[in-house]
Amino acid sequence: MFLVGLTGGIGSGKSTVTSLLRNHAVTVFDLDEYARLVVQRGEPALTQIAKLFGPDVLLPDGNLDRPKLGKIIFADESKRKSLNAIVHPAIYRRLYFDLFVCFLKGKQFAVLDVPLLFETKRILSILNCTIVVWCRRDQQVERLKGRNADWSGEEVENRINAQISLDEKRAYADHVILNDGPMENLLPQVEKVIEVMKKRKSHWKFRLIAISAVTGLCLITYTALNYVRNWAL
Ligand code: ADP
Repeated sequence: MFLVGLTGGIGSGKSTVTSLLRNHAVTVFDLDEYARLVVQRGEPALTQIAKLFGPDVLLPDGNLDRPKLGKIIFADESKRKSLNAIVHPAIYRRLYFDLFVCFLKGKQFAVLDVPLLFETKRILSILNCTIVVWCRRDQQVERLKGRNADWSGEEVENRINAQISLDEKRAYADHVILNDGPMENLLPQVEKVIEVMKKRKSHWKFRLIAISAVTGLCLITYTALNYVRNWAL
């Protein structure tokens, strides 16, 4: 199995592309979904967050008050870093486990939907290639205002500025999906990218490594067992 990184800028249409990929039976691991999962009620990461930011970031029912925490961290970089130090290890533990299961199922490739792929650079090394969903900055602003009516203009700007610009990300990417037109323009581009991925043979590299490792392990075990049996006789 090989891994494809999907990223964009906030509001550029990455989640929309993820839905289209899933509609085409592509396996997508969405890091935002993992981020929600690891801070559910009862999760150790949520307890740590409440300790660090105070009980005010919890709703009366014990769930995380995400908008409140969002406002705190987007206004203060050091707090954002502290939150990441709690949440990221929990996310990656689950992700790597699920990737392993996916690999065992024999999938050719999987897409990792990572909002801050180029900012954190954390998993770039395990990716075979990257896709960026691009649109113009004014469209980003407009779409964010449409999607999050409760965000002020300043908040929208802060959130966009907290990320590398889409023009820069576009330069880093192997494939670019242009989302500066109507929604209908997305589907053909997504189908094209899937076609390109399906033609790749990179998954064989990892399968051969795994087969070699398992064969090596079997040989070592067999030799060790033989040695013990001869010694016991
Ligand atoms: P992201 O996941 O990158 O933050 P979304 O996929 O949630 O972005 O898209 C942000 C908003 O913009 C959503 O409300 C979505 O429906 C809308 N949107 C996405 N692509 C387009 C498009 N091509 N034209 C108009 N609106 C779009």
